[in-house]
Amino acid sequence: MITFKADATPMPERRQYADELERAEDALEAALVAALRTVARRTLVGVSAETADMARARAADLATWQPVRDVLAAHLQRIAEAGADAVRTDIERTMLGVKRDMSALLGGIAWDLAHADAIAWAIASAGALVGEMAMNTAPRIQLLIAEWLTNGEPLYVLAERIQDGYIYSAERARAIAVTEVTRAFAEGNMMAWSRSGVVDRHRWSTSVDELVCPICAPLHNKIVVVGAEFALGITSPPAHTRCRCGLSPVVAVADEYDPAVDLPVGLENQPYVGLAGKAPPPSVADIERAIAQHGRQNWRRAFRP
Ligand SMILES: [Zn+2]
Repeated sequence: MITFKADATPMPERRQYADELERAEDALEAALVAALRTVARRTLVGVSAETADMARARAADLATWQPVRDVLAAHLQRIAEAGADAVRTDIERTMLGVKRDMSALLGGIAWDLAHADAIAWAIASAGALVGEMAMNTAPRIQLLIAEWLTNGEPLYVLAERIQDGYIYSAERARAIAVTEVTRAFAEGNMMAWSRSGVVDRHRWSTSVDELVCPICAPLHNKIVVVGAEFALGITSPPAHTRCRCGLSPVVAVADEYDPAVDLPVGLENQPYVGLAGKAPPPSVADIERAIAQHGRQNWRRAFRP
């Protein structure tokens, strides 16, 4: 077994992928807004004072939520796979840059299995999320219907109240998008680590905009065995709704790690491809320079065309 040397290797953190993950959040949010609109329509169609309970039943029915489930499964799969790919490049670069005789070991890593894991996870996760949403939505709709029946208002008032409320709102879509992109990327990372066999511990890293989060700030740079808790009940990001934290692996490397060592022939031609198939996102050093220039709120500006 290789000796683990914590802090020996500066591995990329989630914030290096901040820009493309932000684009992934935007894309998921937009798709969810549209899907939620469809679900709201499906839930309310043909409802009258006599059949008001139909809306509650439909809100609880998973079939009604299929558009949301499909959107989640497709997006989370793509992000979890990107999380696995990001790690693959990190690990190959680090390990092969350190000790060439490890290439035999890495040749045996089942990266395809990490992708299969990511796909299976995304589908299961989308199903679980939609189950939760259906469960949380039905009682809220029931409450609105009960109020509406008591008040004797026209049907469009109920429809408006349901559509203008939080249940099917853009605000809810945004919260889900940010939280679930964080989860999918971290899950993808962990699945690839697990398949690599060279990672047994990982480090929590807050994103730039979470450095002051009261929940996440104390977790920053904390290292635990994969699967163990960083804090009570928290084994991986997200730690809360809209959390943008990430993980970085503590890789088993030998003492002679030298980032300047050239990659073996062939590997240098396999750069990280990422979500959009573009060049790697900016490095931490680049981001720190951008923060100095534009401030913590607007640092991403430096990387926009
Ligand atoms: Zn966080």
